[in-house]
Formats: sequence, C-alpha cells, structure tokens
Amino acid sequence: MKVLVVNCGSSSIKYQLFEMNDESVLAKGLVERIGLEGSVLTHEPTGKSKTVINADIKNHTIGIGLVLEALVDANHGVIASMSEIDAIGHRGVHAGEKFSDSVLVTPSVISAIEECSEMAPLHNPPNISGINACSELMPGVPQVAVFDTAFHQTMPKKAYMYALPYEAYEKYGIRRYGFHGTSHKYVSERVAEIMGRDANNLKIITCHLGNGSSVAAIENGKCIDTSMGFTPLEGLVMGTRCGNIDPAIIPFLMKKENMTMEQIDTYINKKSGVLGISGVSSDFRDIEKAAAGGNERAQLALDMFIYEVVKYIGSYAAAMNGVDAIVFTAGVGENAIGMREDITSGVEYLGTKIDKEKNNVRGKEREISVDGSKVKVFVIPTNEELVIARDTKKICIK
Ligand code: AMP
Repeated sequence: MKVLVVNCGSSSIKYQLFEMNDESVLAKGLVERIGLEGSVLTHEPTGKSKTVINADIKNHTIGIGLVLEALVDANHGVIASMSEIDAIGHRGVHAGEKFSDSVLVTPSVISAIEECSEMAPLHNPPNISGINACSELMPGVPQVAVFDTAFHQTMPKKAYMYALPYEAYEKYGIRRYGFHGTSHKYVSERVAEIMGRDANNLKIITCHLGNGSSVAAIENGKCIDTSMGFTPLEGLVMGTRCGNIDPAIIPFLMKKENMTMEQIDTYINKKSGVLGISGVSSDFRDIEKAAAGGNERAQLALDMFIYEVVKYIGSYAAAMNGVDAIVFTAGVGENAIGMREDITSGVEYLGTKIDKEKNNVRGKEREISVDGSKVKVFVIPTNEELVIARDTKKICIK
C-alpha cells in the first residue's frame, strides 16, 4: 500500500510518499512560494538525485499536480502511475473539539475544518485547499486528516479550561487545545517501545523543542496536559513567540505604543521569544554562537528557555505524581547537546542522571541517561509524517 502524506501551508506543500509494507519513504519534497514569484518544487526521490523544478505555481492544485508529475516522471519518478497511490494523509492543524482521532475526509469533515478556521486562520484554509486539490486530481482516492490537536483531546477539563467566565468556553470554544500532538504521540509511543514497556503503564514527559516548542504530560498513553493552549502561542519561550506572559501586558502595551490588534499580534507572535530577548536571531544555533561569544542577551534568552522547560517538566511530574521517562525531540531537542544537559540537570531531584558521553548525539534515537537512572531520558527524532501515513493506512483498510 502506498500513502502520500501532504502538509499544506499557506504558500507551501511538504510531501512524502510511503511504501507502507515496510514504511519506507519512496520520495519526499517541498513546493515553496505558491502564488508568489519564484515558486519552486524540490523533489527528492530515494536513491536518485534531487531535482529542482521552477514553475509558475499559482495555487495548491497546480502545486499538487506538479508533485504528482514528479512522482511518475520517467527520470526522477518513483511510481509508474498515479493509480499506485492508495490513499492520501493530510496534516491538519486545528480540529477544535470536533475530532479526538484521525478521520476519513468527507464533506462534513471539510465543514468541521472550515468551522475551526477562525482559530487557525493561517493553517486550516490551506489545509482545505490541499484536500480539494487532491479530490480534483485524484478523485476516488481516500483522504485522511490527522490533526495536531487530536492527541491532546484526552486532557481532563481541569487542565484544558481557562479561568475566564464559563461562557467564553461555551460561546467561543476558548480552552486549551494543544498542538504538536502528532509529534508527542509518536515519541511517547516510541519511547514505550524502546523501553519494552506498555505505554498504558508509563508516565512520560515529551519535550518538543524547536522553533515552536511544547511539552506534554502523557500518563498511561493519554495526554493529560500540554503547554500550548488556545493557539500555539502559549507555554514556552519560542523562536519568535512570547509564550506565557501576564495577559494584562497586552492592553497596557497597546495603549502605550498605540498599537492595533494586528500590530500586537505580530509583536507577540513574530517579534518576541528568543529573538526578542536576544535581538540576535530566532534560530537557536545563532543564539548559542552569540552567547558563546559573550553576548549577554543571547545568554539570557537561552537561560530563560531552559528555565521554562525545567519548570514545565517539574510541574508535569507533579501533575502525574511521578515520571518514568523524559523525551527530547524536534530541532533543539534532537540536536542541542548543551541545552539537554542543562535542562536535565535542572530536574535531577526527580532522579534523572545524564550520561555525558551518551548525550553527545544529534538527531539519533538514543537513551542518554546513565544506567540505573530512576527517570530515563531519551532523544527520539520525531516523525510526524510516519504517524500520518500509519493512521491513513489504518483508516483506509478498515
Ligand atoms: P524545528 O522547528 O523542529 O525545525 O527546529 C528548528 C530549531 O532547531 C532552530 O532554532 C534551530 O536553530 C534548532 N537547531 C537545529 N540544530 C541545532 C543544533 N545543532 N544546536 C542547537 N539548535 C539547533
């Protein structure tokens, strides 16, 4: 069975074609600058050389059309015909409270994604464009939507409610939803596998640390709390997002700086985080470099980030009354050796002990705690595409 995984952004399409018999990736690639000048498709077939196709890609349908052409191309293709694609899995971002699992796309699912667009205006509309493009180009091929919010739907009400007047929840659905769910799901299931333990009998804290970051508490295979909220702005200090702040700062700043709604939104989403603190970059590699060169604000940005992760791990260990394993994933979690060391030494009281030699690893699956560490610590590269492909297969061969 072959599954095409599609992740549509407002001006981009990421894709991977999986052979599900052995879960191998046949090809992957990226369409960029859709609807803009200089649009381009970069196609990477496994075992063949990468090709870059410059074309006028006005919309997602044209983009997906080019992807399909690349997949069947005589030179850089990997399948003989489009009919070999058995199903399509879409990365969906926000499904509100509508779906707690992946779903087969039907007209009512599309309407549900549309209804949640107000909460994810940058993500849900391109998601629908991608679904429509696939329906047009591959009619009859089943499509599945796998949502970032779904894994967190098991949170208890005390964890997902905000202490606003209850009607804010009833009228507008204002509550914590959480994001990166597909990643938290993958690494939490994988760590149970590596430990040879039943996920239903484990307390796991998963740290997805990248440009966007979130931590999740997973007890007996179910998410019971997570740091991102109504939107992906809440929680940790991020690349350009402020994370948790006193909400009273917003009206205060708007008044002082005479800001509009859009301006304050940009301020807290795009100009804050480690970029805002350091003034150097939103990229942790640049910040680490600047800090090593003596830049105090860059060091402060790193210290704040580490401090926040330590606090979340501590609070989630408290929420679960214990923790068996901590997992690091995503760009920073998989690669930033020093930050992992600082974070884990900040929670040593829990019984975590890092082995410096084992921790000297980037982007590879490995246990990094010493033998006998009470709380085991792991680096597990995330694989959201594989979760999407597996869920798609599961739903389509029911
Ligand atoms: P992601 O959003 O998961 O793609 O992660 C992107 C972030 O990971 C960027 O801020 C990168 O700077 C960071 N990152 C990638 N490699 C490293 C590394 N070797 N050390 C520190 N940060 C890294």
